[in-house]
Amino acid sequence: MNDAEISAAATLEPVADVAHRAGIPADALIPYGHYMAKVDTRRLPEPPATPGRVVLVTGISPTPAGEGKSTVTVGLTDGLNLLSQAEDAPVDWAGRTAIAALREPSLGPVFGMKGGATGGGYAQVVPMENINLHFTGDFHAITAAHNLLCALVDNHLHRGNALGLDPRTISIKRALDTNDRALRETIIGLGGRSEGVPRENGFEITVATETMAVFCLATDLEDLKDRLSRMIIGRTRDQRPVTVGDLGPNGAQGAMAVLLKDALRPNLVQTLGGSAAFVHGGPFANIAHGANSITATNTARRLSDVVVTEAGFGADLGGQKFMDITSVAGGFPPAASVIVATVRALKLNGGMALQELDRNTGDAEQQHLEALEAGVANLARHIENMAAYGVPVVVAINRFPQDTEAELDWLTAWCARRGVPAAVAEVWARGGAGALDVARRLLEVLPSEKAGSGWHSLWTENMTVADRIEAVVTQIYGGSAVEYAPAAAQQLVQLAEEGWDHLPVCMAKTQYSFTDDPAVLGAPSDFTVLVRELLLRPGAGFVVALTGAVMTMPGLPKEPAADFMDVDADGNVTGLF
Ligand code: ADP
Repeated sequence: MNDAEISAAATLEPVADVAHRAGIPADALIPYGHYMAKVDTRRLPEPPATPGRVVLVTGISPTPAGEGKSTVTVGLTDGLNLLSQAEDAPVDWAGRTAIAALREPSLGPVFGMKGGATGGGYAQVVPMENINLHFTGDFHAITAAHNLLCALVDNHLHRGNALGLDPRTISIKRALDTNDRALRETIIGLGGRSEGVPRENGFEITVATETMAVFCLATDLEDLKDRLSRMIIGRTRDQRPVTVGDLGPNGAQGAMAVLLKDALRPNLVQTLGGSAAFVHGGPFANIAHGANSITATNTARRLSDVVVTEAGFGADLGGQKFMDITSVAGGFPPAASVIVATVRALKLNGGMALQELDRNTGDAEQQHLEALEAGVANLARHIENMAAYGVPVVVAINRFPQDTEAELDWLTAWCARRGVPAAVAEVWARGGAGALDVARRLLEVLPSEKAGSGWHSLWTENMTVADRIEAVVTQIYGGSAVEYAPAAAQQLVQLAEEGWDHLPVCMAKTQYSFTDDPAVLGAPSDFTVLVRELLLRPGAGFVVALTGAVMTMPGLPKEPAADFMDVDADGNVTGLF
């Protein structure tokens, strides 16, 4: 059965029961149908003295299909909950609980190439079809709020431009949660005097907008409004920044927040194993910060002993940003990190062609241990990087049907030789029962609540933007230097002049490589990363550094997933995976 069929065949619990078991009072639950709900966090019981510990699930440099971080996040949560009820549960885990916190899927990858983001096999959050499509409408709300801002900006220009915005500097683009390359660059306001002011504009995918980042990093409605008001729209002719808070008599943040107030409440669903899961917010990890909302993670921490959360793409992207941006903004230093590794992606990193890996049916002739051995350097670097943040690391080897015993044994033995706790995860095939070994390895190294997290950031407070970029490039990517395109070099000077030079940096980089070139796989060293442009995002509280050719509006592939989707007369969807 494929993911959609497994999900459709499952018997789901009413969301009220899931909530009840998680300790969410009935009056805090706002059901969206039978199996999904939003949670009114103001009606939750008082937070516990020691909120749940955060376990970050991250991964190695991936193949285009993904290596199963969402799948392992879900399976591990189920595994931890199974283990807590087992007779041989580790002493300090008996009777305790775990909750998953994941991002909401974007329609871009769902209809494009990568597919949904609800996990896979027997490790899924459900109902997968709803979560992968419109869910509780959060992305539509974020798109609407962002586009309302754009409309207000263009109306401001049309009505005389009292703020003196230079239309050529307007950096806010329209948003759409679809991969649509034709909208990357647009011209708007055509048609004469009554149709607005003509200017160049463009679209970003919703998950790359600052509004999405603000939504995910805001701790509550007030913080949301403060952050929205700080967003820079563009500049005046004499280069002064104009913000959302400057628009109209009171700023546009109030109207935007009106559209976002319900969306900001975290969404509760369940896993196939019956664990509670929050699925909320969804910035991409290559072009944005790549983690679910802080409100969801903090809500889960109030209700459980361990929150298993996922950050997008490899540990160089989502992992680094979780460690240096999200966990700082949310006040939850991670207690441990789980790195998802697959034989397939390691072989890709070891030099095998993707087409050859796609043809792999799992017989012994195709196992190519030498490619695995060559590619494992990629895993080694991700392990070192996560360990450098001061947290224990566990490797979850996500078993795919075509992996051979010899490959899995080799990888397990490699981890043992390096002294890294590791176990094979069979969550896709077996759900939580397939995660018990990983769960045990994790609990062996997870610091107690009392011991606290050993986490520390890569950055120190007084580092400049350039220092921070250099630290990421040299200490995480393994590069030797950073180069700045002329525009970016000028922006560095301007950031310093305007006092933004202390902000964290959100690196926008290809997910396939430690370098800014998607074709350079493995664990390269001695390379230079080119920063093309720096985008000041004061609402999110960071500066985005665009490297390589990474785009904030993806395109559809030659054979988009949409080509294979359909719905029958009874409303049954096919082709969603
Ligand atoms: P990531 O979160 O790393 O992007 P996902 O968890 O979304 O990856 O998984 C990507 C795809 O791979 C999904 O379609 C999922 O069903 C599939 N998948 C994940 N793990 C396995 C596995 N062990 N065996 C087969 N397919 C898997």
